[in-house]
Amino acid sequence: MYDPKSLKAEEFISHEEILETLEYAEKNKNNEELIDQIIEKARTLKGLTHREASVLLACENPEKLQQVYDLAEQIKKDFYGNRIVMFAPLYLSNYCVNGCTYCPYHMKNKHIARKKLTQEEVKREVIALQDMGHKRLAIEAGEDPVNNPLEYILECIRTIYSIKHKNGEIRRVNVNIAATTVENYRKLKEAGIGTYILFQETYHKESYEELHPTGPKHDYAYHTEAMDRAMEGGIDDVGLGVLFGLERYKYEFAGLLMHAEHLEAVHGVGPHTISVPRIKAADDIDPSKFTNGINDEVFAKLCALIRVSVPYTGMIVSTRESQKVREKVIRLGVSQVSGGSRTSVGGYEEEERPTDTEQFDVSDQRSLDEVVRWLMELGYIPSFCTACYREGRTGDRFMSLLKSGQIHNCCQPNALMTLKEYLMDYASEETVKIGEALIDAELNRIPKENVRLICEDHLKKIEEGIR
Ligand code: SAM
Repeated sequence: MYDPKSLKAEEFISHEEILETLEYAEKNKNNEELIDQIIEKARTLKGLTHREASVLLACENPEKLQQVYDLAEQIKKDFYGNRIVMFAPLYLSNYCVNGCTYCPYHMKNKHIARKKLTQEEVKREVIALQDMGHKRLAIEAGEDPVNNPLEYILECIRTIYSIKHKNGEIRRVNVNIAATTVENYRKLKEAGIGTYILFQETYHKESYEELHPTGPKHDYAYHTEAMDRAMEGGIDDVGLGVLFGLERYKYEFAGLLMHAEHLEAVHGVGPHTISVPRIKAADDIDPSKFTNGINDEVFAKLCALIRVSVPYTGMIVSTRESQKVREKVIRLGVSQVSGGSRTSVGGYEEEERPTDTEQFDVSDQRSLDEVVRWLMELGYIPSFCTACYREGRTGDRFMSLLKSGQIHNCCQPNALMTLKEYLMDYASEETVKIGEALIDAELNRIPKENVRLICEDHLKKIEEGIR
């Protein structure tokens, strides 16, 4: 068996082990005794190994799968309550020297206008995002050492954190930029980033190399070991993800869980988040060329299985997914969603949604206010909280809070207070009405009385204008 500690990520997430896992899963997909044992293990909240989880993914028995879905829902409720963290992407630059065959930013695409935000433009985008009510951003950029060097990204982060506008401020900047060096990760950490997010795209090395034929991203090992370098550079919240549709989903799922196992074994802390993007139509990209697309049912199964396999890892779904799909997977374990997103460089400033420089088609095109209202109508608490990060509760400190179960005394009041701020400062009348009723009802669900009283007091202060 593999020893995760002594192997590098690329060695640990080996093709042979994934193939053996898939074979094992296929052989056992009707082994009810084993399936029951795996589900029982998942109930203890210890998570599942990639082999165990792969057996459940291969299983097609509706009764057993229903147990998995019910468990995913239960775990979601126990750990995350009914809170959903809100964020928005901010595209800084679409200059890119890579040749990713699924991404419209690829170097050879001459149809799209290349654009990089100036600091003045960053400021205007951030103000537009603050005016919607966002407090948490994920910055996105292509890879281009000349046009978007790390210094540029750092400058943008400084600009974003410096902008105070009315009651707005961005309190957490997560970063989704190409794999880089330990030294650069250290600089990102010093700049105060939240999570460093990097999608693996695919764990299938051969496909990876074909899908990334040119540019620095071609180097599979460098890309796969990026999270280890990030952690070495002091970033302890890292976000994994694969782009579903590029390769066979069962292969990707095993690879993704092995990556999480590797991080946990080597660094003592697993991934902070897992994103589940599916490939979308985009300029110069025809998704039908990618024959491994997954339907909504498989997508939901994957989300539920990620939830039960890594119960302490947040799960992110973007506006690539429609309202209908988002509704389904939020119930099964997703803890973070974007809202009001624009996937083009400079998109938030434009009146109309620009299509020419968008990175991919956005399925959920509702405004943030609409998304917030919709979540509340479904019984969720949209949360704009960034307290853990601001209080230094990252990496294993965040994980131990989550594992202690104390998160309800911490996250529930913070979610309600940040929602209250949102309602006071940004929401439409209709959203305010629903939100106020929700806050009243949810206050009673804070377990400790003294915490509830403090929360009530803070809510009053927010009403008086304090943020
Ligand atoms: N350039 C950075 C990198 O190389 O990792 C990340 C930024 S990129 C803007 C963010 C992610 O968008 C990529 O990692 C990829 O998974 C995703 N993406 C690219 N093309 C896509 C498409 N056509 N549909 C959906 N997602 C796409």
